[in-house]
Amino acid sequence: MKTVAVLTSGGDAPGMNAAIRSVVRYARYFNYEVFGIKNGYSGLLDRDMIKLHSRDVSEKLDKGGTFLKTARCKEFMTSEGVEKGAIILNDAQIDSLVVIGGDGSFRGAKALHDRGIKTIAIPGTIDNDLGYTDYTIGFDTAITTVMEAVSKLRDTSSSHSRVFVVQVMGRNCGDIALHAGVISGAEEVIIPEVDFDIDEIAANIKKGMARGKSHYIILMAEGSGNPFKFTKKLEEKSGIHTRLSVIGYLQRGGSPTSFDRMIATRMGARAIELLEEGESGIALGIKGNEIINMDIENAIKYRDKVDMEIYNLAGVLAR
Ligand code: ADP
Repeated sequence: MKTVAVLTSGGDAPGMNAAIRSVVRYARYFNYEVFGIKNGYSGLLDRDMIKLHSRDVSEKLDKGGTFLKTARCKEFMTSEGVEKGAIILNDAQIDSLVVIGGDGSFRGAKALHDRGIKTIAIPGTIDNDLGYTDYTIGFDTAITTVMEAVSKLRDTSSSHSRVFVVQVMGRNCGDIALHAGVISGAEEVIIPEVDFDIDEIAANIKKGMARGKSHYIILMAEGSGNPFKFTKKLEEKSGIHTRLSVIGYLQRGGSPTSFDRMIATRMGARAIELLEEGESGIALGIKGNEIINMDIENAIKYRDKVDMEIYNLAGVLAR
């Protein structure tokens, strides 16, 4: 009997459950015995796995988080840890594995591939920090959450003619701030990939207010520095009341958007198709509307680039 295991690793992202569901149902369709490994690589090393049938993934499609749970595992970052993981999979007669996670999880998947486990990696992270794919699973939901939050903050910003600095997630990647900034009409977007000048921002605020703007929303990526210090300094420079809102973990949760459900579902199925074709060491992604695949090794080498067209558009539309 063909066997496949699935795990989620690293930070959780909305749509991970949709991907697991698709992997399980598609694999069952192709007569695989399917296992779910709990808590990422940590659960693998603890042999914490359960058999999964199609009914076990009922009512999971619309749930945020990951029902298999996720974790970070230091031991798996050593070659002894990876070796142990490969032995555990071999002992359980599991010859293939689908890993859903970010770039760290991809490195773990590559290490298992190098030890003979057939491995496919699916990008699940809200940060969208993997350069080889247009989108990662969870990103669309995260920017939608930020969009809704900004819409509420704008009410207060307008009523009090206040400036709001909104810090959003993304680690070293500015994609959440940039995309959420465009779709919510933020006045400024600050991202780690582009230098900013606080004096210029203060001057823009004053000019904007003089031109009749009643609100001023600044989306600041977490990789762009300390938002508390930035907010205080900006208020001193502009002389206009400025408040900070850190949205934090709200961005990691919630029911996945239609887009995230769709790409999660398509990638989950493609992972099984690739295993059926005898492939391994492959990362899945999306370019345009096409599900693409690439060696994990190459995929993690791609540096994520900011879309300057979108960045410039944000700047023009905010004036
Ligand atoms: P993400 O997958 O979201 O980027 P992390 O970077 O925390 O999250 O990675 C998740 C897990 O992947 C780590 O806790 C570790 O178990 C595993 N991992 C990361 N890097 C490696 C590596 N070089 N070799 C083996 N496993 C790794």
